[in-house]
Amino acid sequence: MLVSKLKVLRSHGKQFIPDLQGVKLPDTFRGRPRITGPIPSELAGELERICPVGAITAEPFSLDTGRCVFCNECAMRAPQHIVFTSDYRLSSADRDALVVRENAPEAIDFRADKVRTCIHRLFGRALKLREVSAGGDNATEMELNASMNVNFDFSRFGIDFVASPRHADGVVLTGPLTENMARALEICYNSIPAPRILILAGSDAVSGGLFADSPALQRDFLDRYPVDLYIPGNPVHPLTFIDGIMTLLGHYRREPWLQAQ
Ligand code: SF4
Repeated sequence: MLVSKLKVLRSHGKQFIPDLQGVKLPDTFRGRPRITGPIPSELAGELERICPVGAITAEPFSLDTGRCVFCNECAMRAPQHIVFTSDYRLSSADRDALVVRENAPEAIDFRADKVRTCIHRLFGRALKLREVSAGGDNATEMELNASMNVNFDFSRFGIDFVASPRHADGVVLTGPLTENMARALEICYNSIPAPRILILAGSDAVSGGLFADSPALQRDFLDRYPVDLYIPGNPVHPLTFIDGIMTLLGHYRREPWLQAQ
């Protein structure tokens, strides 16, 4: 009985990805945008107008990955100026670092100096997170689930989702934060013993995304509590999520070789 089970296990081989940092996503993946300037002002104005979420500012030209829904409209209109690279390392501890400007070849700056010192010390070896979907469409939520599947196996690093905020060290917020979830989110967040972590996953959570101007949102919670990590994406790729958390905990660094991608 045991021998036959071992044989089955052996025939499956290794299903997890041994080196998550070594994974290269296909060129069709839309990750960090690269902007080649100068962009003529007429074209820049047109790009600002066609962006459905106001992620593009024409003057001076910039693209806010915290708002972007990666629809590719701008890159199709100006392929000589905007390219979405397959670099999935999009997160930062600083909201302003998510804005990509003309001729900025570097990887997104993680701003490790903004990370609270207690985070490495207290959560570097184990981190339990409670996920709160506040008006989310289940896209990023499914990708967060996928980060724990047999391929990505994120829990091998001691990081897990838990069912109760009482067992958690922090909250991962997905969705644009609707009014009917605002109170529930705050109760959940305050049920976690301090110091606690707050992570925004996905463009909806970071900026409101497509729903930013909706009267159904109530996002003042984010003005009252410190955010530790911003993770762009629509939805967030599991590798983007894993990279963000591991960099927040000090296990990954934005290596210089990434800047050449
Ligand atoms: S890819 Fe992003 S920046 Fe470009 S048009 Fe779409 S939402 Fe706007």
